[in-house]
Formats: sequence, structure tokens, C-alpha cells
Amino acid sequence: MKMLFDADRRDALKKLAVGGTLAFGGSLHAAETKLSMPSSKKKARIVIAGGGTAGMAVASRIRRAAPNAQIILITPNDKHLYQPGQVFAAAGLYRDSDNVQPTSSMLPDGVRWLKESVLFFDPESNSLKSDKSGKIVYDFLIVALGCEYNYEAIEGLDISAIGRNSVASLYLNDTVKGTAKGPEITREWFSDIRKSARKGDDVRVLLSDPATPIKGEGVSLDILFLCNDMLKGRGPQKGADIHSKVKFTLAKASDTLLGCRGYDKALKKRVAAKKNFSTLFSHELKSVDVERKVATFDAGGVRKEVPYDFLHVTPPMRAPDALRDSPLAAYEGEHTGWFDADERTLRHKTYSNVFGIGDILGSRSGMSGAAARDQAIVMQDNIAAAMEEKPLPAKYLGYTAVPVRTRFGREILAEYDRNGFDPTFPLDPTEPRWIWWEIDLHLMRWVYFNLIMRGMM
Ligand SMILES: Cc1cc2nc3c(=O)[nH]c(=O)nc-3n(C[C@H](O)[C@H](O)[C@H](O)COP(=O)(O)OP(=O)(O)OC[C@H]3O[C@@H](n4cnc5c(N)ncnc54)[C@H](O)[C@@H]3O)c2cc1C
Repeated sequence: MKMLFDADRRDALKKLAVGGTLAFGGSLHAAETKLSMPSSKKKARIVIAGGGTAGMAVASRIRRAAPNAQIILITPNDKHLYQPGQVFAAAGLYRDSDNVQPTSSMLPDGVRWLKESVLFFDPESNSLKSDKSGKIVYDFLIVALGCEYNYEAIEGLDISAIGRNSVASLYLNDTVKGTAKGPEITREWFSDIRKSARKGDDVRVLLSDPATPIKGEGVSLDILFLCNDMLKGRGPQKGADIHSKVKFTLAKASDTLLGCRGYDKALKKRVAAKKNFSTLFSHELKSVDVERKVATFDAGGVRKEVPYDFLHVTPPMRAPDALRDSPLAAYEGEHTGWFDADERTLRHKTYSNVFGIGDILGSRSGMSGAAARDQAIVMQDNIAAAMEEKPLPAKYLGYTAVPVRTRFGREILAEYDRNGFDPTFPLDPTEPRWIWWEIDLHLMRWVYFNLIMRGMM
């Protein structure tokens, strides 16, 4: 293994990836140039704020890149959630507990964990304020706070409305508490849809995606396809085929199903081929009357009411308060309110000793664990170079990977970057394959907890 890493990490990781990291993308796409794997022997204090996918993946890499640095990870969650597993939990293929591990078991040696929350960043004084320790100073800061849900931005909805009156949201989780209610709520929602269809009713199911950047870009499509497939009698609970009783409508605030033109085209074709599916593009969900079961959209300036029997909501997302209200947030442009980074080096545009990684970047098509993993590799090299006051050698090219589960047992592995398709394997990337599904279902979670979170892949 050591030889592989020393020789050329890019090729080595590609080889390793064949062993299966597919829901997070198969290979290393991050760097424009060959990664040099620099390290710095300098002493410095590096603070990582946030210990989810990105913070944890980068912690062990920084440990290796800066062996003499003091590394502090500030994160309040003592449980770590494998969020991609929420889809399989909702489908009845994982137990909810399968997606959780103690943070302490994942913490790299030599990294000090402060189980607390950042309240505010003060980059002018190279410090932040936390709820327990107060002022914490740093030489370098990596911000990895993820994103938070903003259900309240939709009039008539808040978290307490999810799971009642036929409203579900698979997303619903709390990364700070390490809990996820979304999968259980969505499982029950699936089963209520089936019960209604069995009674012989015509059932209207509405799914909505917001105008903000979203993590897990394929989740609404997963629900659409898997729910339809369950109604055909597939999945863990077999049964009669009653899918024609159910009409699905997917309403998107954007005009695409996925943020890459090639995949978008292929998916639109696939959705259009289903007789009981329809789509509403450029429809932003503004309010929900949960008693009357009516959703109101802004459709290009026109108010439009859509009645439903069952509703699934992808919540609007935003950066957590601690970032949003700080000088580290962009105050204009499409990333307003998100971490203000150079999108290639991941360094803050104003504060050269501050970097951002993961969902906090608010990248429209790159809020994924796959993107965070690629960024962690870039960060490893760039932090070491920054410590040595050298130019930053590695660049993140916008790589992301989105699994789209098109039926039980098949998925499309949509891998792309800012230039379009970026598949790992020379196969038609728009084709659903059983192999991606099997690896995703049976191998990926293990790879996540044991390799990616330990900075080994
Ligand atoms: C349902 C679902 C399905 C998904 N499917 C996939 C998939 O198939 N493939 C894929 O690649 N990605 C998928 N994702 C997306 C992926 O999980 C996220 O993009 C990834 O977890 C982002 O990592 P992050 O570290 O930026 O944020 P998180 O992993 O959310 O971590 C944020 C961390 O910050 C901490 N934090 C928050 N506030 C503070 C504070 N004030 N102070 C200190 N710490 C704080 C939290 O406790 C948490 O530990 C999915 C997500 C969901 C919800």
C-alpha cells in the first residue's frame, strides 16, 4: 500500500477504486496536475471546524501532511451519520442504526477533538468563538460545517410538519445530534401510498426540489423511481402491481434533473418514458397548506396551486448561522451566504490562511460526499504548501458523483465535473447497471467508514 501511495497517488487510487468506492465516485479526479503529496514539518495550529464527511476525511490527511502541527477538530456530534445510507434505509434495505458510528471511533490519532460548536468566526484576529472554550486561535482554519435545512422558508412548513398529513422528507436528519428521522418517515409514507393505491384510489404524489443548492442531488429521483418500483411489487415488500393507480409529479425549481447536461438529457428521457410520471420545471415551492393538501409554486412569476395526496419535500438549504453571519461568507453573487472560496484552490478569497471544504461551499452541483472526498485530497496538498508559503499546487475541478437509483437493483452512477461527464470506467455512463447498485448497497458504507473517513481513499 505504501508503495502505491508514494509512486503516484492518482493512479494508485484509480486502481484501488476498482475495488469499489462507487457511490462516492470511482477515482481521483481532483487535481489538474499530478499530486506531489507535499508535507510541511512546520509547527502550526490547524483548526478544523465541523466533523462530518468533509471534516473527518480531511483530518487524517492533514495529520499526514503536517506531522508537527497541532490539529484540533471542533464538532459537537458524538455520532457520525453516513447520510447516503438514508436512501437505502428508507427503501427498507438498511436499518437506521447501520448508518451511524461513534465520532470517537473515527478520530485520527494525534487529532484533538473539542466536542463543541463554533458560534462565530473572526478571521481578522485568526480566531473563532466556540460555545464552551470561548476564543480559540489558529494559524490555519478549515471550515467544514456542512449545510442546514430551512424548511421554514416554505410557508406552512417546518420540521414538525414532516411525518404528518402525508408530508415526508427523506432528508430530515440532524448531523449535530447524529440522528435521522427522514428514512423512517419516508418508509411509512411509501407504505401509506401503497395502502391508498390498494384501496383503488387514484393517488397523486408530488415531489419538490428547491431553488437553493442541495446535497444528495439525486434523492428526489431515487424516491420517484424506487417508490414506483415498490408499487410494481418489487423491493423488500413484494406485492401486486398497482403502480398505474399512482401519478407522480416531480416539481423542480430549476430546469434540470441533474446539474450536468448529458445526464440531465438521459434522465429526462427516462422520466418521460414512464406513463405515470410528469415533471414541472422552474416551479419553486413557496407554501403548503397541509390541511387542504395543496402546494403553491412560483412558476416563473405566476402563482400556481397543485393539489396532492402525498408530498415529499427536499428542503431549501443554507450554510449554518455561524458561517452565514461571519466575514467568511460571500456577501454577493450566486454564493451569497456560503463560504467565499476560490472554487479551485478552496482557499478563502480574502483570508489566505482559511480554507473551506464540503457542503459549506454551496456549490450548485457539488454538494456530495464524493465532492468532499476529492476536495480533501486537494486540501491535503494545499494546506502543506500554504504552511511552507508556497503557491498552492492542487486544484479541485468540480468533480462529483451522484448515484441515481432507477429501480431496485439498478443505478446510474452520474460522475461529472465542471466540464461535463467524468466517468471512471469506459462504459456508457447514462446506463443504469446492477454492479453500481450492488457496490453501493453492499460495499460503499464500509469503504466510507473505513477508508474515506480515514483519509485512505
Ligand atoms: C439523504 C442524503 C443522501 C445523500 N446521498 C449521497 C450519495 O449517494 N453520494 C454522495 O456522495 N453524497 C450524498 N449525500 C451528500 C453527503 O452526505 C454530503 O454532501 C456530505 O456529508 C457533506 O459533508 P460535509 O462535511 O460538508 O457536511 P456534513 O457531513 O453534513 O457535516 C457537517 C458537520 O459539521 C458539524 N457542525 C454543524 N454546525 C457546527 C458548528 N456550529 N460548529 C462545529 N461543527 C458544526 C456537524 O455536527 C457535522 O459533523 C447525501 C446526503 C443526504 C442527506
